[in-house]
Amino acid sequence: SRIDQIKADLARLADPRGLSDQQANVLLARTPAVAWLAYSIHGDELSGADAALAAGWHYASCTDPKVQALLDEVIIIIDPVMNPDGRDRYLAQLREMRSSVPTTDDQSRLHGGRWPYGRTNHYLFDMNRDWIFGICPETRGRIQAASAWHPMLFVDAHEMGPQDTYLFSPSREPINGNYPKFLHKWLDIFAGDQSAAFDRRGWRYYTGEWADDWYPGYSNAWASFRGAIGILYEQAGVDWYGVKRPEGRILTYRESVHHQLLSTLVNVETLHAHRDEIKQGWFETRRACVAPDGPYANRTFAIVPNANVTRLEAFANMMRLQGFEMFELTEPFSVPATDRLGRRYDALSLPAGTVLVPNAQPNAHLLAAMLEFDPRMSDAFLEKERRELIRRGDTELYDITGWSLPMLLDLDAYELHTPLPEAVTRPFTGPVRPRGGVDHRNPGQGWVIDGTDDQTPAVAMRLMRAGVRVRFADEPFTWGTRSYARGSLVVAREDQQRDDDSWIDALDRITRDAGLLAEPIETGLGAGVIADIGGEHFDLLTTPRIAVLTESPVNSYDFGSIWHTLDERFKLPASYIPAERLSWTDLRRYNVLIAPEGAGDLLEEAGPSLARWIESGGTLIAIGSSARAIARDEGLSSVRLLRDVLDELDDYEIAVLREFASHADSLDAEQLWSYRVGNSSPAFPWDGVDFDRESVEQLERRDAWQRQFMPPGTIVAARVDDEHWLTAGCGDELPILFGSSAVLMAMDSVEVPLRFGVLEDDAESTEPRRIGWCTIPAGRDLRLRMSGLLWPEAAHRIANGAAVTREPVGSGQIILFADPPTFRAASLGTMRVFMNAVIYGPGLGASQPIMP
Ligand SMILES: [Zn+2]
Repeated sequence: SRIDQIKADLARLADPRGLSDQQANVLLARTPAVAWLAYSIHGDELSGADAALAAGWHYASCTDPKVQALLDEVIIIIDPVMNPDGRDRYLAQLREMRSSVPTTDDQSRLHGGRWPYGRTNHYLFDMNRDWIFGICPETRGRIQAASAWHPMLFVDAHEMGPQDTYLFSPSREPINGNYPKFLHKWLDIFAGDQSAAFDRRGWRYYTGEWADDWYPGYSNAWASFRGAIGILYEQAGVDWYGVKRPEGRILTYRESVHHQLLSTLVNVETLHAHRDEIKQGWFETRRACVAPDGPYANRTFAIVPNANVTRLEAFANMMRLQGFEMFELTEPFSVPATDRLGRRYDALSLPAGTVLVPNAQPNAHLLAAMLEFDPRMSDAFLEKERRELIRRGDTELYDITGWSLPMLLDLDAYELHTPLPEAVTRPFTGPVRPRGGVDHRNPGQGWVIDGTDDQTPAVAMRLMRAGVRVRFADEPFTWGTRSYARGSLVVAREDQQRDDDSWIDALDRITRDAGLLAEPIETGLGAGVIADIGGEHFDLLTTPRIAVLTESPVNSYDFGSIWHTLDERFKLPASYIPAERLSWTDLRRYNVLIAPEGAGDLLEEAGPSLARWIESGGTLIAIGSSARAIARDEGLSSVRLLRDVLDELDDYEIAVLREFASHADSLDAEQLWSYRVGNSSPAFPWDGVDFDRESVEQLERRDAWQRQFMPPGTIVAARVDDEHWLTAGCGDELPILFGSSAVLMAMDSVEVPLRFGVLEDDAESTEPRRIGWCTIPAGRDLRLRMSGLLWPEAAHRIANGAAVTREPVGSGQIILFADPPTFRAASLGTMRVFMNAVIYGPGLGASQPIMP
């Protein structure tokens, strides 16, 4: 049929490799232009979806010859309600809230709904941020469908504040450097036609102002990076009864739908009028993407796999969803490269099996925008941004500034400054997951499961819930010929106290389902002094009984990402407790309580009962603003905020210097065994440190100034305490998305498994020097920024601050995350630390009574 032919032609054009000019011209001439019209991805932005129905009716029923001609030459695909769950939820709220006397006051509840709001989908995701991750099934289905049609126009209709007017593309800076250049001209032409149509009716509108094209995960941005003319609509939101405006008139719902509909009809007409040129431009852009001398020819992304198969699988699935090609090295290879901390290598050795993603692919723009380590903003934009920050404390940044997937997924990744080395590669079809399960029925000691894979914590919890006792290795070990990572699980026969072998069946089933191998322990004798099975390095875990605070005032995105992580990604049971009921909830049923962002005031209110629960063995995990609230309150935790301890900085500085000393000191044995005290002069961690600080008033003034420059979401590096149970499964450094104005400070009584800044050697710095509030030793420097905008003022505040803290309180503990570890349910690197906290916490950081 014609439709299959058109799809096949589009697919052929979309991958210009091996297509001659003549073939391309034939295909372009016979292929219609494609318009993809998508509405109301935020379910409480109603007008778009209703305009979609009107547009559908118009194109299906209109007999005007002009429209008929358009339909012959343009394919129109309508995605009328991108978020049916959110729309249903919002409409149900509006029905509940209806009064018999209507109000046009947009502050009345009928005009905004309530928690969890209709903006988000079932798991409370903002799907208009999910296009680069594909965490939600709605997104995945949509990416597959839209990819198959290769739209050249992509309309994305939203609503904004009710007192606003109407906004459409083009947007303003910052614009991502990978944004296809040929789109700029077309966005101006489309905006010209759209504004002329609004002018004729006297409707007010604007372009740019607050909408940017920096983050590639919005609907229209995603489409633009694939070469479509991606156009954003933002209509003032009216909802049900209309809204009274300052000029005295009432903006009706009918008008709001009309604006969206007219915009759609005009945009499709513009596409029709310029279809040949637009198709040509779309094709040329893709051809440049794969050209041997094209802008992306000399770049390849490399991922060196480790034993974390689940993590690599997640990455590979993200790449395949977008249609990106992957390869793997068949033999070791050396190339010039840059690592995630911006360090350049003239010849980096990559092992066989390294996964390679060449940038030169038909969707090179999107690929680069998703993977590149260090996208840069224009100087002009940065100057303006800084001026605004200083003058008014305003930022022009609309979302996070760093999202590089290899960083959010914490992959051992490199940017190679070379094309794909084809001679030593083959297509990557993996990763190959082990068959999983128990591989030997009757070993003397039991079984061991390596702890690197992200499924390990969830497997531990499932085993415990099935009645199998599990131990956690707090350091790496070698038994027989095999080495195992810190965080490996041991299921020892002696622990089980069973008459039958049903626990072995459970072990087999659970590890098989997760694709993890339970290997027989032939001997529990570690090589040399390395841990033996009966020693103190295999801690018995305790079954987590998890409660998560939810509903107002908890941040719905943060809660949603935690809910999705536990429930959907790892299929683990938890209780979801309305936060307002915290004070009279019987917490004894749980041994883990998670406070997502936003629960701070309620934690304070529940202070005494919460404190009792922690002291008797509870693990409290508080995130973002909830962690900051705990650090502000003097009651529960001894972690503090930087701004509150400017008069005690010496003590915090010494705590960090002690950490540096613990892994920097070299020992002079000759001097140690000397009989004469006078022969030695012990060094102090703070030698060379100048404790003469500015006055507290001056420090406060400086801190207030620097606070203005804190990032809205930038990836920074944390150094990892590789002996702490919270960091099992992590490498030496962990990228963390930092997006707040506060810095957590911890003294010696508090463990800091993750601290901001990675130390490196620096021969040029011959003296200790203070970065922000903390001195670093001579011969060292600190790397912090990984991806996104970080002003130096902010870098100096954040450096050496705590990213995660853990402190004992009675028989229990408090774990604080400075920033949400499950961001958009996509930050798999920090998500691992979160899962370690939730599942290992009750056994490792808290103690439970032995019941008589
Ligand atoms: Zn919206």
